[in-house]
Amino acid sequence: MHTIKDNITAILSELPSDCRLVAVSKTKPNELIKEAYDAGQLDFGENKVQELATKAEDLPKDIRWHMIGHLQRNKVKYIAPFIHLIHGVDSKRLLLEINKQGLKNERVIDCLLQIHIAAEDTKFGFDEKELKALIIGNELESLENIRIVGLMGMATHTDRKEQVKKEFETIALLLEWLKGHKNEKNIDPTILSTGMSGDYKIALEAGSNMVRIGSAIFGPRNH
Ligand SMILES: *Cc1c(COP(=O)(O)O)cnc(C)c1O
Repeated sequence: MHTIKDNITAILSELPSDCRLVAVSKTKPNELIKEAYDAGQLDFGENKVQELATKAEDLPKDIRWHMIGHLQRNKVKYIAPFIHLIHGVDSKRLLLEINKQGLKNERVIDCLLQIHIAAEDTKFGFDEKELKALIIGNELESLENIRIVGLMGMATHTDRKEQVKKEFETIALLLEWLKGHKNEKNIDPTILSTGMSGDYKIALEAGSNMVRIGSAIFGPRNH
């Protein structure tokens, strides 16, 4: 039987030194999160606002919480005071709301723009055209309480490794494009959040520097 600590150690040994591990703890109880924390893990990802906020209240304050799921505008306020990074930003309206809540809490909130790279159309995110329009349009300039620090994407759920690799390469290229639009205000892109338990090795080959891993650390989830 592998412990959570064993799993984390094994995964970390496969990651390059500039790649951060986000332990995805959704549906998992605080005892297991604490076990990972005691093994040195500080970044945790959740996909539901209520669950994230409750866990943040109950668990050690130096944990860095990542919102990795689809975020509704009316729920931003519950995580705005403390969230470390919001991965799934998929509209300008959501960015405006995050900026508003950042202002209220007197902080700058780091965001990743979610890019739609999968063949399935159930996954959220900007496509290439929408991303470029958003950035080139200079519509974000006045938003002083957000910072775009990179991109996040989810590949198609398939055994076809070539397809998954191509999708991860597509988003890696978009990050390179976005780096060309770095500014003094709120665009400072360095993070490529790609790869989950089933595909993170492929994501690493395609330049990921932030992997979001749940079941390979905590075991399967019961839905
Ligand atoms: C659940 C989830 C993960 C982790 O999935 P695993 O397959 O358990 O590693 C990663 N990213 C997002 C956005 C998720 O919702």
